Order: sequence, then structure tokens, then C-alpha cells
Amino acid sequence: MKRSFTNNAKYLLIGFLVGALIFVVVFVTANLLADKHALSLPTSATETGTATLAPAFTFTITPVFAATNTATPTLAITSTPLPPEGEAFSIGKSIEGKPLEMYRFGSGPIVRVIIGAIHGGYESNTATLVYLLRDDLKNHTIVVPEEITLYLLPILNPDGYFDFLNQPEGRGNARSVDINRNWSVLWQPDWDRTGCFSYLRLTAGEHPFSEPEAIALRDFLLANKVDALISYHSAMSAIFAGGQPDPDPASDSLARALSAASLYLYPPTNDPGCQYTGQLIDWAAAQGIAAVDVELTDHQSNDILINRKALEAFLAWRR
Ligand SMILES: [Zn+2]
Repeated sequence: MKRSFTNNAKYLLIGFLVGALIFVVVFVTANLLADKHALSLPTSATETGTATLAPAFTFTITPVFAATNTATPTLAITSTPLPPEGEAFSIGKSIEGKPLEMYRFGSGPIVRVIIGAIHGGYESNTATLVYLLRDDLKNHTIVVPEEITLYLLPILNPDGYFDFLNQPEGRGNARSVDINRNWSVLWQPDWDRTGCFSYLRLTAGEHPFSEPEAIALRDFLLANKVDALISYHSAMSAIFAGGQPDPDPASDSLARALSAASLYLYPPTNDPGCQYTGQLIDWAAAQGIAAVDVELTDHQSNDILINRKALEAFLAWRR
């Protein structure tokens, strides 16, 4: 009995010391992250309310968020009320004036985006898939974790989607620009078509971000400090990670997680070796966003069973 009592006391002491150590580390780290702001008392009315209600932990955590938020002018955008969950809201318009409709689920600090039909027309099954994932989220078949805000944009290229449904011509927008070649990283006015799908009438746009669809998505991704994105394409049953010539490490990590969940091929060893210029995922990776292209198996199937698993992996993935 005596020995077990001594052991218990020992464990208690060790437990207390470990707890105290964790508290000190958390407190110091929070203060270091927030620089001087975390050390001073909160200033605004809402912050003061939180601070007086709760002692130590809330005191350190609340100012950390306040400091990072107030540091940049984008606060105005991120702090405006969130759009109603599961209801369409527009982030801009296409060349033909069609709205670019998005849906929000969850309200956590880590922001993720899923994009369908950046190539409209014959990649319309990617829009069908994103709408099906939206319905899964609406009826809670899939639940967004507390720390995540997820945005779905089923059709980034509504001109190509509606004007040339299920036809190759619908790959570009109404100005025959390939929206996935209009981004500023590795942009070129033209590209070597060897190994590419041959769509000769498409261009990369007059200059990077010449197209309203690319501008609207760029501004949304930056204003909302998006952490990671999936852009759906068809049809290679494969995943491409942002960053060239070597994949960006975060995008590579995300691609591996999605490949493990979906069995889509990564790295895409079936890539015919097309020259990829001005792509969304390469631009996103350069902004620190983990970004991948996910290619469905063909131009008809929605691959919903596969991509329910992929979405769960996307929501569970952390840097
Ligand atoms: Zn595509």
C-alpha cells in the first residue's frame, strides 16, 4: 500500500509538472505569435467582454486572433457576415454576364475551396459532381469539421458550360480563352501543343488575368486567405499537384492524401507531357495555397462514390 501510495504521489507530481510545462509553452507561444499585441489587453468592446468573462486561456487565445485579423486590410472582407450556409451567392460574372455561384458550409478558421468546370463543355461532369457534393453537405451525409470553412464553386466557366454543354468547344469561355491558362504564374500567350488535348481555337488570354472568371476567383481566394483547393477536371483518373517543375510540398502532401482516398493516380504517370502554362494550381501554390487538379475517370461519370471519400480526406488533411 505504501509503495503504491508513493507511486501515486509520484505520478501526480509528474502530471502536475507536465501540465504546468504545457501551459507555459502554450502561453509563451501564443504571445510570441501575436507579437506585442497579445501581451497587451484587448481593446475593442467584444474583446473586453470575452477577456473579463474568462481568465487565463481565453485571455491569451482571443488577442492572438485579434492581432492577426487587424494586421491586414482584408479584415473588412473576412469579418463581414458569412453568406447563408448552403445557399448560392455570386463572386462575380462571366464574359456573358452569367453569375459565378458559390456555396458555403462550416465557419471554421481554415478555409478550403472546391472548383468545378474551370473547363466547361465536355468537362460538365465535374460540375455535376460538385453539385452532388453540395447536396451531401446540405443533408449532412458529409459534415464539415468545426475548424473548416468549405466553399464550393460548381461552375467556374458558365459560358463554356451552358453554351457548349458536353462539347469540346465548351472548354474555353465566351472569348475562347482557356481560363486554366490565364493565371500569372508561368503564363505564356501560347504553348507547345505536343501531348496536349488539341483545342486550337483556345488562347491563354491577352495577358494574365484578362478574364473576369479568373479575376473573380483570384480575388476570392486571396480575400478569404484560402488554405487549400481542389480544381476538378476530366478525364485522366489522376491528380496533379500545384508547382512546377517540382511540386509544391503542401500541394504534394494534399495530392497524396487524396490519391490514397480515391485511388486516382498520383503522381500522374499517365500524363502525356503537355506543356502547362498559366494554370490555377501553379498560381495558387505560389501564393501558399495547397492546390491540386483532380481528374475524373471519364467525361460522363460523376464519380460521386470516389469523391465522397476524397472530400472526407480533403476535410481531414492538415499541413
Ligand atoms: Zn480540364
